[in-house]
Amino acid sequence: MATFDDVEFYPGDPIFGLTDMFNADDREQKVNLGVGIYLDEMGRLPLPQAVGVAEKRLAEQGASHNYIPMGGLPSFIPADQELVFGADAAVVAEGRIATVQTLGGSGALKEAADFLHVLMDANVVALSDPSWANHAAIFGGAGYDVVRYRYYDAANHRVDVDGMLADIRALQPGAVVVLHACCHNPTGYDLDAEQWVRVTEAVEQAGAIAFLDMAYQGFSRGLDEDRVAVDTFVASGQRFFVGNSFSKNFGLYGERIGGLSLVCRDADEARRVSSQLCKVVRANYSCPPAHGAQIVTTVLADAELRASWEAELAAMRDRIRAVREALTAGLHEAGVTDMDFVLDQNGMFSYSGLSAEQMQRLRTEHAVYGTDEGRICVAGLNEGNVGHVVKAIAAVVS
Ligand code: PMP
Repeated sequence: MATFDDVEFYPGDPIFGLTDMFNADDREQKVNLGVGIYLDEMGRLPLPQAVGVAEKRLAEQGASHNYIPMGGLPSFIPADQELVFGADAAVVAEGRIATVQTLGGSGALKEAADFLHVLMDANVVALSDPSWANHAAIFGGAGYDVVRYRYYDAANHRVDVDGMLADIRALQPGAVVVLHACCHNPTGYDLDAEQWVRVTEAVEQAGAIAFLDMAYQGFSRGLDEDRVAVDTFVASGQRFFVGNSFSKNFGLYGERIGGLSLVCRDADEARRVSSQLCKVVRANYSCPPAHGAQIVTTVLADAELRASWEAELAAMRDRIRAVREALTAGLHEAGVTDMDFVLDQNGMFSYSGLSAEQMQRLRTEHAVYGTDEGRICVAGLNEGNVGHVVKAIAAVVS
């Protein structure tokens, strides 16, 4: 038996460590491209106007702080389903989806992991190589063995689709496959519609179950367009999970609001699954927090607020695209012409292709902070800092 003397210090996520180093850096021109948050052109974390209005409205209504049901705020569930599956989705109308409110996208992963482990005896999870580090932590913590499927083709700056398909096909029945629905974290490389069809076939062939992690809906091409993976899995007729998050697209990071949905065979199965998902919630934290769900529901149910939110989300998406273009244009001017692959990537993250040593030099010599794996959060770039980042990259690659 371990004793308290054996408890080792947990140094925290390396990304938070990077932010500590960044904060302690007293150089005037410094840029934090390490942490995964969207910043506006002024380098601030924006609050969508619609969210501010919704919060004010809720405060005026004097909403109570009563517990909400285990499965979440009742009005949140259809609002979440409509966003994730689309306004006219037949699977929603047929009542085939079991949805619970979760503590962000992380909570959705944890609920699904526990549900599958406890009820289906699932004990293997396949993650993309590489993937968001917390995927392994959440599934590992829930009792799973973590295996990897090939994903990033470093030599060719793209997804190794054939390797990915082969690895998924070779999984054992019942394995869970976590797939990034859009804006892959950390590489930025996504699948196209035809590749998604092949992935659904591979998952089905293996007898595995997919978990679509959709933490960035709206950040790639649009709310509807970013649903391609969800639509393809629905069309395939297999059961699958989707976890979605309002951390990024609503800017509600700290409110911990997201959803977990399982597309079932029929309404009766969805009702039974729903009840078991509630049981998992009950055992983990009893019931979710109310405020984030109230904000999301208020915005999505009000045509004006919703239109305002969608316009701001589109502006975020356009800004990310624009800074990717500014970065590559600047690099061209600086003589670095082999990084155009950054334009093929989606969302906030970009695998820069830089080595760990080059990333460390970016930090120590130029106060530009990204991860040692070469990931930069392009959503931290703006007109004011992109020139500095260009110069820094040009210096470390020359
Ligand atoms: N999945 C992926 C791929 C992510 O990048 C993130 C956020 N970094 C999450 C899930 C978790 O999101 P949340 O903050 O809503 O828990």
